Amino acid sequence: MSTISLEQEINPWEAQAARFDFAARKLNLEDGLWKLLRRPSREIIVHFPVILDDGSTEVFTGYRVQHSQARGPGKGGIRYAPDVTLDEVRALASWMTWKCAVVNIPFGGAKGGVVCDPKKMSRGELERLTRRYTCEIIDFIGPEKDVPAPDMGTNEQTMAWIMDTYSMHMRQTVTSVVTGKPVNMGGSRGRKEATGRGVRVVCDEALKLLGIPRDGCRVVVQGFGNVGSNAALLMQEAGYRIIGVAEFDGGLYNADGIDTHALREYQQRNGTVLGFPGAEAADPDELLLSECEILIPAALENVITSRNADRIRARIVAEGANGPTTTVADEILADKRIFVIPDILANAGGVTASYFEWVQDRQGYFWKEAVVNEQLEAILAEGFDDVVRYAQAHNVNNRIAAYMLAIDRVAFTIRQRGLYA
Ligand code: NAD
Repeated sequence: MSTISLEQEINPWEAQAARFDFAARKLNLEDGLWKLLRRPSREIIVHFPVILDDGSTEVFTGYRVQHSQARGPGKGGIRYAPDVTLDEVRALASWMTWKCAVVNIPFGGAKGGVVCDPKKMSRGELERLTRRYTCEIIDFIGPEKDVPAPDMGTNEQTMAWIMDTYSMHMRQTVTSVVTGKPVNMGGSRGRKEATGRGVRVVCDEALKLLGIPRDGCRVVVQGFGNVGSNAALLMQEAGYRIIGVAEFDGGLYNADGIDTHALREYQQRNGTVLGFPGAEAADPDELLLSECEILIPAALENVITSRNADRIRARIVAEGANGPTTTVADEILADKRIFVIPDILANAGGVTASYFEWVQDRQGYFWKEAVVNEQLEAILAEGFDDVVRYAQAHNVNNRIAAYMLAIDRVAFTIRQRGLYA
C-alpha cells in the first residue's frame, strides 16, 4: 500500500476499493458477494442540452450511480462541480451504502453529479439544468427507488426544483422523492444542523470511551461551512473549546477558545472568517497539525495524506467531511494510536435526518425539532457503539470495523433475499 503514487492515494474510488477489499478479506466474505458489492449495480451517464441565458445551447454530462439497493431505496446527494468524475461519484455512492448500513437505516447507496460550474451559472440556467437532468434520470429515481439529496454545489432550492419536476411527471405532488428540501414543502426540522450534531454525538461518545473530560476539551475544525460550523457551535454549547478554525483562505487560533456564534455572524456579514477580532490569524495547514484533543476535518477530501499524517497531534480525528483521510494516512494514524471516527460514521447524522425527512413525508406528519434531535442522537450513539465493539472484537481500527459492520449487514440481507433468477 505504501508504494502507491499520490495520484492513486487521492483517487476516491481506489481509496474506497482498498478499504472494501481489506474489510471483506477480514470478514471472509464469499467470492460472489465480494464481486457483487465491490462495484456499483447501476451507472447512468447522460448528456443533455440546456439553453443558456445568451440563447446558445450547451450540452452537460450528468451521472447517477446506484451502488446497492439491497437494504432499501438508493440514497445519496447530487453534486454540481466542474471536476465531477464517474470514479468520484462511484466512490461516493459506495460510501452511502456503507454509511446507511453503519447507522442501520433502511437505504442503499447512490450518488449523482453534473459536470458544471454552478458559481458561473445564473439561477435560470441552474433551474433549467436541474429540471432537464431530473428528466434524464426520472425512470431511475423515486421514493421507493432512489432518493437524491443536496451535496456540493446544490442546495434546498435544487431539491425543490427536482421535487417539482418529478411531481409534474407523476401528475401529483411527491415530496418524498428528495430530501434536504425547504421545511415548508416537506423538509425536516433539524436537517441543516444534523451532520454537525452527529459529529458532536460521536465526539461525546469517544471522550467517554477514552476517559477525556469534555469541559475545555480542545477542538480544531477545518471548514466552517454547514458541517464544520454547526459541529463547532453545538460542541461549544456542550463545553468544548474550539481553539482553531481553518478555512480555504486562512485560519484562526485562540488558545482560550473562539466564540463560534460571533464567528458565524462575522462570516455571514463579511463572507470570510478572516479578520475576526476574537482570534489570531493562523496558517490553515499548520492548524491541522496543532496540539488538540479533537481534529475535525469538515471541508473536503484528501486533507490528511502521507504528506502530513505523521505530524498530526490530535488524540481524536472525527471526519465530518467525506474521504478526508487517505488509505496510506490511515496506517500512519493507526501507528500513532490516534482514535479515528471514520466519515461513514462521523458524518452519518445528515443521512439519518434525511431518513427522518423521507419518513415524515410518507407519514404526512411532521415531527418537532426536539424529536428529530433525540432520535438522531440515539441512532448515532448506537452506531458508534456498534463500530467500537466490532473494532474490539476483530482487533481492527475503527474505519475497517465500520466497513466490516456495514458489509456484514448488507451481505446478510442479500443472502436472506437470495439472488433473483
Ligand atoms: P460547505 O460548502 O457548507 O462547507 C465547506 C467549507 O469548507 C466552506 O466554508 C469552505 O470555504 C471550506 N473549505 C473549502 N476548501 C477548504 C480548504 N482547502 N481548507 C479549509 N476549508 C475549506 O459544505 P458542507 O456541507 O459543510 O460539507 C463539507 C464536507 O462534509 C464535504 O466533504 C461533504 O461531502 C461532507 N458532508 C456533508 C454533509 C451535509 O449534511 N452537509 C453530510 C455528510 C458529509
